[in-house]
Amino acid sequence: MRYAVISDLHSNLEALQAVAREARQAGAEAFLCLGDVVGYGADPTALIAWVRRHCEVVIAGNHDWAAIGATDTSYFNPAAAAAARWTGAQLSPDEAAYLAGLPSTARLGDALLVHATPYQPTAWHYLLDLRSAAFNFSHFEEPLCFLGHSHVPGIFLFDEDRRRLRAEPGGVLELKPSQKPSRRAIVNVGSVGQPRDGNPEASYALYDTAEGRVELRRVAYDVAAAAQKILAAGLPAFLAERLAAGY
Ligand code: ZN
Repeated sequence: MRYAVISDLHSNLEALQAVAREARQAGAEAFLCLGDVVGYGADPTALIAWVRRHCEVVIAGNHDWAAIGATDTSYFNPAAAAAARWTGAQLSPDEAAYLAGLPSTARLGDALLVHATPYQPTAWHYLLDLRSAAFNFSHFEEPLCFLGHSHVPGIFLFDEDRRRLRAEPGGVLELKPSQKPSRRAIVNVGSVGQPRDGNPEASYALYDTAEGRVELRRVAYDVAAAAQKILAAGLPAFLAERLAAGY
């Protein structure tokens, strides 16, 4: 089975449609979503409809629960808080109930799916470096963990036999669990709707379960159209500007 693993869509319909098209061309048969379907962008209703229709699994993100008042937002910056309030006002009771009912983790074969970190999934910690990766490897059992939240794609590899941890450059991971049972990985799939690694192209991962292969991919999309919708909705201009810069 070949999955497209998507995260941090953030109400960006242009980015999501571009990723979905590219993923299907690359052979994706199903979609897995790691949360933050909404927040920041201008199309929350369209995004919720899309993930309900197309995703086999959808995990809750902090912005999904922020929009419905179900998680603490005191640490949100003013633009994020304004977007959460605006998003909440757009949602129907049915859409709000859908977001409220999303699970905080899921298991799919060899993989754990979570929005932020395996350790305390709904405390919304960030996993950005080897130190936090090392800590989190001891808080899940599966060979593979997919997550998002930081909007920075990357792969952390842990060899349990040699107790060796490293960041995997290049964005391609060959797991082959049968041959290397002690090798485990944490894959941050990056963000579809608001990349923050300096590259404005939408990010996602292709996961082929039969081959044990994960590939981080980037997709160009109509950034100007998504930014224009954010401005037209009256959301903070900063949220439109950052899309082009990829930060
Ligand atoms: Zn996010």
